[in-house]
Amino acid sequence: MILALKVPLFHVKQALILLLAAVSFAQTPAELIKNPAIRAALDAAQRNEPATLEQQVKICEIPAPPFKEEERGRELKRLFEALGLQSVRIDSAGNVIGVRPGRTAHPNLVFSAHLDTVFPEGTDVKVKRDGAVLRGPGIGDDCRGLAVMLAVIRALNEARVETPGTITFVADVGEEGLGDLRGMKSLFYESLKGQIDKFISVDGTGLGITHIGVGSNRYRVTFKGPGGHSFGAFGMANPIQAMGRAIAKIDAFDVPAQPKTTFNVGRVGGGTSVNAIPFEAWMEVDMRSSDPASLKAVDAKFNAAVREAVEEENRRWHNRGPVSVAAELVGVRPAGQTPKDSPIVQTALGVSRALQIEEALREGSTDSNVPMNLGIPAITISGGGNGTGAHSLNEAFDPHDSWRGTQRAILLAVALAR
Ligand SMILES: [Zn+2]
Repeated sequence: MILALKVPLFHVKQALILLLAAVSFAQTPAELIKNPAIRAALDAAQRNEPATLEQQVKICEIPAPPFKEEERGRELKRLFEALGLQSVRIDSAGNVIGVRPGRTAHPNLVFSAHLDTVFPEGTDVKVKRDGAVLRGPGIGDDCRGLAVMLAVIRALNEARVETPGTITFVADVGEEGLGDLRGMKSLFYESLKGQIDKFISVDGTGLGITHIGVGSNRYRVTFKGPGGHSFGAFGMANPIQAMGRAIAKIDAFDVPAQPKTTFNVGRVGGGTSVNAIPFEAWMEVDMRSSDPASLKAVDAKFNAAVREAVEEENRRWHNRGPVSVAAELVGVRPAGQTPKDSPIVQTALGVSRALQIEEALREGSTDSNVPMNLGIPAITISGGGNGTGAHSLNEAFDPHDSWRGTQRAILLAVALAR
């Protein structure tokens, strides 16, 4: 401290006490930003952004297909340890957990980003550079979140920021697709059950704040029949054609625009040959809404559509080689929300204002769904920069001013860990 050179020891102590008091009791993000240690952390984030982007690339080149996040998880564990987090461990689901203790154990803020991608094993995950733009599957969603999380730890360490409460960092599994939030379910129902007071996750790109957790029901529907020769056995019901009828019915659903309620047939499969009546067909269907009642309603329509489609198909072929169907619920993401006027959302908006970031409240399906559903204050923020093509092989990340996302994450973490 420069102060130490000029004033007697007593005053240094006084100044330090005042400084600590400022960290402890300043309430608003606009006040926090004036704290020298926090200011230093924000500056470190901007200075370190090139290294953060390199980290983002390196992490992204370690494959993390659904249900196969171990390799990327081991690297996060190594990085957590290298950054001095304590009690670094991997829980039974595969979540990597590391603690940055504050002056007290509570409030305990969990700060997370997800390890998994939507891309299957064998996908080329090499990141290509196109000027400053980074291209590669998962580069934004959620390699950006993981890189921001590491940058937050690093900046807090470099600026020696001591938080009143504790921050538990988590690189979690199973956020995407049929992962069904299993990392979060394990974290909140088992490994850290009852120990989490607040939650933020960093997911994807831009500067949004997700405070409404869109719930979803996901099904795998299997249509079965005896099958046979396309010419010789002609005249029997056909599982793929039955599925076609179901898809046509689903496509015609009317759903409310507000609260936004959606449906999608995302994958189909079945059949063995062009000249065989298939013995099996299957499809995967996703329905979403932030409103539990609307979700229930579209779910009921879907189940009725599948049943009617099979009845029609069997009727059309006079029940010859009848088709049967089973709809298996393979994913349930609980819906929930953190109200706009709640302290955590208001703090996040205050942080954005303090950093001249425009307000952008959103709804979405993220790791926050689980704590929101439990009534634990939770939001998901995006990690800065500009992303395109999330969940596609053409995913790209434009790092223009991406440091702003890192700074926002730091200030929010500090503001909530108290
Ligand atoms: Zn994501």
